[in-house]
Amino acid sequence: MSVDSTTSPPATSPSPRQHIRLTSHAGGLGSLPIHWDAATPAERGPVVGTTTRRAHRNVIGTHSGSYSVYRALAVAAGALKREHRADLTNTSPTDVIGPYPQWSEPGKIVSMDPWGAVVSDVFAQELAAGYDIRPTIAVTKAHVILPEVIDALQKGRLKADGKFLTAGGAALVTKAAIEPVWWLPGVAKRFGCSETDLRRVLFEETGGMYPELVTRSDLEVFLPPIGGQTVYIFGNPRDLANPEVELTARVHDECNGSDVFGSDICTCRPYLTHAIEECIQGAQRGGVGLISYARKEGRALGEVTKFLVYNARKRQLGGDTADQYFARTECVAGVQDMRFQELMPDVLHWLGIRKIHRLVSMSNMKYDAITGSGIEVGDRVNIPDDLIPADARVEIDAKMAAGYFTPGKVPGADELKATRGRGLGE
Ligand SMILES: [Zn+2]
Repeated sequence: MSVDSTTSPPATSPSPRQHIRLTSHAGGLGSLPIHWDAATPAERGPVVGTTTRRAHRNVIGTHSGSYSVYRALAVAAGALKREHRADLTNTSPTDVIGPYPQWSEPGKIVSMDPWGAVVSDVFAQELAAGYDIRPTIAVTKAHVILPEVIDALQKGRLKADGKFLTAGGAALVTKAAIEPVWWLPGVAKRFGCSETDLRRVLFEETGGMYPELVTRSDLEVFLPPIGGQTVYIFGNPRDLANPEVELTARVHDECNGSDVFGSDICTCRPYLTHAIEECIQGAQRGGVGLISYARKEGRALGEVTKFLVYNARKRQLGGDTADQYFARTECVAGVQDMRFQELMPDVLHWLGIRKIHRLVSMSNMKYDAITGSGIEVGDRVNIPDDLIPADARVEIDAKMAAGYFTPGKVPGADELKATRGRGLGE
């Protein structure tokens, strides 16, 4: 017979560790207000997503994006003390980014905290007063070495200068990792829905993971459990904000299969490395280069969906053809794409960008989002034909027919039927 706890209370009361605090009743006493578009950090207020002092929290969710779940695991496993506070000694950015006017222009940045890299400086008082304020952005230096860049050096397309590119093929970059910080009223506006609807759907579609979305309308900032983004800057980061300096830029969405493992069914890695080559050349011309890399694997559908689509494409009657490319994705995922570039330009505004002279992208969705957010775009740079893997012809032809930029001919219906990829067994 099972024990009914309502009639048979346990002999001992639960320990404090078993007691779950309802987030809907979490104090607010001692928490600092956030005024999102405020001009100064003092008026804006810090983002406090710590779980150590719950009364200090002024956001929904917690830090580190999707890795917040691993942090919870580490606490559960006894490997991490839940009261651990980061020692931020010597972690400050290697390069100063901003502040730029866009940081406080209403609605310009809604999906990241522009002050996220400099919390130790601008919120020093609050930190000293005991608030656990964590950086959501980190800026550092790196050398990036890619076989495609070494190949370009050997073929003479790139020249080493010891400043932007070493003789060994290492490109010198400044890179910044950025975690998502969503100001919900602004995010809702970008997507043309009401904040109430956005909150309710976020609550429901995450399986009720964040009750505060629906119970705490006073909390307007959400740290979503999703991947963030990384920017790689070739040249002086300050030059990004100067429209007089030639800017070569690519906004790239993650594709692990191609980017890392060299899968040849899409153009992701060839386009990325081509963009890096363009960025190095741009920096050497006296300009600056930028790669923004967003963790939106497989059009933000995830790799499982992506691989299911590959199979569906290759097993369909007639084989993998460009005319069925989007249809197969939609069959499995319900949509063609979930990347929704609406939030993408935020990072460009954080960097102070007003003009992109050379946009290394053929995507009309990215172009429309960037120009729609008030950034001027000069030339659009397509991927050279000889960099397109044979099996990726299906993807690129389908995309060009759907509106992707191409300086060449847009394939017609007959050509889309004729563009065919490899079979699964080949
Ligand atoms: Zn890809």
